[in-house]
Amino acid sequence: MSTIVELLIKTFGQDSVLTREEAALRVASNWRHKGNLDCLALLRPKTTQEVSEMLKTCNDLDLPVVPHGGLTNVVGGAITKPNEIALSLERMNEIEEINAQNKTVTVQAGVVLQTLQRSLAENGLLFPLDLGAKGSCMIGGNIASNAGGLQALRYGVTRNLVLGLEVVLADGTILSSMNKMMKNNAGYDLKQLFIGSEGTLGIITRAILKIEDLPKTRNTALIALGSFEKTNQLLQNAKTDLKNDLTSFELLWKDYYSLMTSPPSPYSPPLPQTYPFYVLMETLGQDATKDKILFEEFLERSLGAGLIADATIAQSQQELDWFWKIRENVELIFSIHDPVFLFDVSLAISDMDEYIKKIRSELESAWPDLLFYAFGHMGDGNLHLYICCGGNDDYTRHRVEEIVYKPLQQVGGSITGEHGIGLEKKLWLHLSRSGGEIQLMKAIKKTLDPKGILNPGKVF
Ligand SMILES: Cc1cc2nc3c(=O)[nH]c(=O)nc-3n(C[C@H](O)[C@H](O)[C@H](O)COP(=O)(O)OP(=O)(O)OC[C@H]3O[C@@H](n4cnc5c(N)ncnc54)[C@H](O)[C@@H]3O)c2cc1C
Repeated sequence: MSTIVELLIKTFGQDSVLTREEAALRVASNWRHKGNLDCLALLRPKTTQEVSEMLKTCNDLDLPVVPHGGLTNVVGGAITKPNEIALSLERMNEIEEINAQNKTVTVQAGVVLQTLQRSLAENGLLFPLDLGAKGSCMIGGNIASNAGGLQALRYGVTRNLVLGLEVVLADGTILSSMNKMMKNNAGYDLKQLFIGSEGTLGIITRAILKIEDLPKTRNTALIALGSFEKTNQLLQNAKTDLKNDLTSFELLWKDYYSLMTSPPSPYSPPLPQTYPFYVLMETLGQDATKDKILFEEFLERSLGAGLIADATIAQSQQELDWFWKIRENVELIFSIHDPVFLFDVSLAISDMDEYIKKIRSELESAWPDLLFYAFGHMGDGNLHLYICCGGNDDYTRHRVEEIVYKPLQQVGGSITGEHGIGLEKKLWLHLSRSGGEIQLMKAIKKTLDPKGILNPGKVF
């Protein structure tokens, strides 16, 4: 055992420090198989004070530290090198206070998203961040990656849901910004710096989150459409007619829908596979009779106007799960195709159709046997692309990334709508942020973490 690990064990106790060998029994990532964890040691603090003392020690010893939440990050943001310390928030997993009157919840960073959702639901309340990885991802990881998810159209991204934050800086300083108010314009809103900073500026230890009343109604339809223009018109009409109840508007291109509803997928197609576009649309509301009528009338009007070609409304929990599985079962792609490159681009909704046509055509010119699946959160301008062109060598990956990313710069889009930069997108950051922005980011990093110990090599 190295003398550093011996020192860490002596200082923080055997229970709070896993050695390299012990840590190697864990996986490096909960997103696909990335092998086992390879790090100098894994720290498992139980309190903010302990996080502070651990960071102070690591900073004094120039030890790089990689914060770990639920390890569901898909861009290599939590990957460690053999000489780095992993610091997991897993033991800071308490829901400290649910305040139903003020609609806030105070949590520690290691609370698993689904655990929080369930506890709140028991109290008739909702934390509206929702994503496929909810069973593993943790609130600290959600905040550090400013997660988006399936209901951002209505509730915004994580940034919009955080009122207050407690963060430990690289030198061990505890920065408490545990604000509970909606409005607080007393100087800079420092918590925003840490939201989406991917573990490079500080370790998030606690947070105060905004919560809502738990919806009493859920209306969900799978809709087939004949063109992108009609799909966009449907979205605009839904925003006007269904107002704030419109919660999800997920678009599936034909290839993706067909893949997800054909063997070996366990799910049959609720609608024929012949249409170019499918939308999974959902409203959440409070009035069982009124919401259902409003939803059905909207679909009937849209059908009558020739906007939608076909639609089916989920009539049971089983059907609801079936529709959502078709949207969410992305693991299926990896079980059939390998290697697959994954993207989460963001752009104006009006630019989406042209963009997808352009990059699909360029990719097909280079790789005629290309497999190209597009789907995602159309309602908030964020699409996922799964691309398989056979190779996985550096040249192929670079060329695919170039084709996908470069046109985004021309239309003012972003190379990442929700997954972040991590290790995988560093090379392309300049396409979505100006030179001035990147310079200022680096200056902020230098100020908060002068020795560069926090998640080194990520983002820049
Ligand atoms: C099936 C699946 C579906 C997904 N769907 C979505 C989606 O719809 N929307 C979306 O936005 N993302 C999605 N993701 C990506 C991922 O789930 C999110 O980014 C999630 O927020 C990461 O949380 P985590 O706890 O797993 O963080 P981790 O993976 O552990 O870490 C993420 C990053 O944050 C840092 N970090 C972790 N905890 C802390 C902390 N306490 N303080 C400081 N830094 C920290 C890490 O160093 C790393 O850089 C999905 C992933 C999977 C596997």
